[in-house]
Amino acid sequence: MASRAAEQREEARQSAARLEAEGVRNVALTWVDNAGVARVKTVPAQRLPEAAARGVGMSPVFDVFTSDDAITESDHLGGPDGDLRLFPALDRLTALAGQPGWAWAPADRYDQLGAPHPACQRQFARRMTERAAEAGLELRMGFETEWIVTRAPEGHHPAAADAYETLDYPCAGPAYGMTRVVELSDYLRDVTEALTVQGIEVLQLHPEYAPGQFEVTTAPGDPVRAADDVVLVRETVRAISARHGLRASFAPSFVAGQVGNGCHLHLGLYRDGTSLHRTPEAAWGLAPDAVSFLGGVLNALPALLAIGCPSPASYLRLQPSRWAGVYQCWGVENREAALRLITGAPDDPDGGHAEVKTFDAAANPYLAVGAVIAAGLHGIECATQLPEPQTGDPGVLGVRERARRGIVRLPATLTEATDRLEKSAPLYEAMGGVLHGAVLAVRRAEEAHFAGSEAEDIAAATRWRW
Ligand code: GLU
Ligand code: MG
Repeated sequence: MASRAAEQREEARQSAARLEAEGVRNVALTWVDNAGVARVKTVPAQRLPEAAARGVGMSPVFDVFTSDDAITESDHLGGPDGDLRLFPALDRLTALAGQPGWAWAPADRYDQLGAPHPACQRQFARRMTERAAEAGLELRMGFETEWIVTRAPEGHHPAAADAYETLDYPCAGPAYGMTRVVELSDYLRDVTEALTVQGIEVLQLHPEYAPGQFEVTTAPGDPVRAADDVVLVRETVRAISARHGLRASFAPSFVAGQVGNGCHLHLGLYRDGTSLHRTPEAAWGLAPDAVSFLGGVLNALPALLAIGCPSPASYLRLQPSRWAGVYQCWGVENREAALRLITGAPDDPDGGHAEVKTFDAAANPYLAVGAVIAAGLHGIECATQLPEPQTGDPGVLGVRERARRGIVRLPATLTEATDRLEKSAPLYEAMGGVLHGAVLAVRRAEEAHFAGSEAEDIAAATRWRW
């Protein structure tokens, strides 16, 4: 332990010297709570070696914080006692292009004696990645980031959730329209440039459906990296927006009744470096383990919604026929299926993968990747098979036709999803009682907070929380 601390201190000393030479003064250490909010402690760059060796203190009570900063409690967590240590992941230390003078690193949480905190979401994601590796599976994952941009109103506190605020869109062009790119070309160039200099490989950037909505997709990586990346992407978009006098919202439902922001999770399965989505002769190219993994994810979706769609606002977004994937079915390149199989061009060895469409950016991305892996591995253990894929939009079928095809609506409320997570034995086993219990407690508190609220009020109250 002592020599590990000394090594970390030395590595951090070298990194801090390099960053300070580039003008970095502060380092933000983030971790994401169970309500999906990135919380932070910052240290001056010269304190980074100390932070790397001993960690930075932060209360365990944040595990039961809700998205409105209220505090609930679980069987294991809550109250003012105790302390945890945030340890920066030095391999992700990044100077922030949108915040000159700042650097960022995601943090793992340990107790004061150096034991992993049982509710540390980032370590949960890593444990599940390792569990997959023990089964010979490698996962490459990536999140899509969708956001809606408006002009920051003058004289308003940027965090104010004002139901009556006027939303002033800086672009008027149509969905997917080049006009929007022309209107915001400096801003979009700065987003791309900031991500690129931070080591994030941008694959695509485009205007989305809703007013002021855009999407950026980034290269896949190992699951923990994918979760780190989406945090960095989001904070970068936020920072570049602010530098342009704009405000970015990643909320699931920006305006109730309109298309919302998704945060779809893409996943590709590999064994010994070979894609399990490109098996010659196999139906859909899927190797047996890929079928069972995806079957496990499909079966677990109702419970997974409490992880991937964690806010009452998430359920405002989850409407049929909005490409959000609200039916428990899968389909080949079907954008209305909750689980979309992407085949890609036949000569693209990495083109084949799958996409969980239902998730949104209120989700803690570390919990999302960890829980999806746990569900997939459970599918492999049970040799789960996939039902027939669905074509077309299940939302336009009659109730009877959906029933005939065996298509079930995913939970339409947070309460229903949380009930399913509570009863999920594989997710309980994978997460452990402390983390599972904390997530349930936060979900129940969010439900209670918004019970009886109108859709517009939920959207307004959560608009700027993620
Ligand atoms: N904005 C849609 C959603 O709520 C997704 C659109 C797309 O398929 O990219 O998830
Ligand atoms: Mg999109």
